[in-house]
Amino acid sequence: MKQYAIGVDMGGTNTAYALISRDGTVVERGSLPTTGHISAQVWAEKLWESLREMIERNGVGEEIEGIGIGAPCANTITGCIEAATDLPWPSPIPLKERMERLSGIRVSVANDANAAAMGERIYGAAKGVDNFIMLTLGTGVGSGIVCDGNLILGSRSFAGELGHIYFEFAKGRPCGCGREGCLQTVASAKGIVLTARKMLEERDIPSSLRSIPVAQLSSKDVAEAAQRGDLLAREIIAFTGRAIGEACATFAAFSDPELIVLFGGVAKAGRILTDAAELEFRRKALHLYADKVRFRISELPDSDAALLGAAAMVTTVSGD
Ligand SMILES: [Zn+2]
Repeated sequence: MKQYAIGVDMGGTNTAYALISRDGTVVERGSLPTTGHISAQVWAEKLWESLREMIERNGVGEEIEGIGIGAPCANTITGCIEAATDLPWPSPIPLKERMERLSGIRVSVANDANAAAMGERIYGAAKGVDNFIMLTLGTGVGSGIVCDGNLILGSRSFAGELGHIYFEFAKGRPCGCGREGCLQTVASAKGIVLTARKMLEERDIPSSLRSIPVAQLSSKDVAEAAQRGDLLAREIIAFTGRAIGEACATFAAFSDPELIVLFGGVAKAGRILTDAAELEFRRKALHLYADKVRFRISELPDSDAALLGAAAMVTTVSGD
């Protein structure tokens, strides 16, 4: 059993990487710009140069299990980045093939939400759990479903777009996918802001949120106000939590999870959010699941979550 993996978190402007030991310790980290390279091939060469130097510096050349790369629109089955709109090069980019050719090391790629789910399974709140659903609550809502110990990929690696399932509580809210009523229009950071604007307008109870210009109001403001005890802010977070709970009551019937892990900026709202979610889940779920599912907030540190998730792909999904 090899003792290290390399995690790469590829973003539109920056690519972070780290050497990670089997117990989840970040041994060394670094980064390089994603932009500014003439082609994806040049970027891959620069990345490998940095990784090779890092491996040599640490004297672990024989101990690398693989390289895991988390990237937007990355397809685990094809190993390509497909239709990515926020990268400077045309898609598809054959990331796995290219990096394997350069490095001679096995490479796994995954989209951000799937990588986050595997990170949680290997290093975080779902350690050792074979059946769980991970919801990443950020700008949008992503998800990773682990069932019987396997990450569910589907026929083309697009399984589990749970953020784009229709719910009555989101009715009338337009979604970035071109439809309306998707979970993500309520449970994302943007969704919280929409709910806040609506409640601020409809209710006349005092709230510290009223001192923030409406156009500048963020989900973080709402979460912080809720934690300070602001009643209206608490109500906004509780509404969001109930929506997540109701959605998960539906999702539970699909894969019979024992755990739901909430990850991302919105999850920072903490217990107010998870308590509301759990309560609503118990009310709405089929009796088979109602008392059997726990809700937890991600345990991965913000700064390392994406890197740990990418590295976790190495030990769990070969992509071959
Ligand atoms: Zn949608």
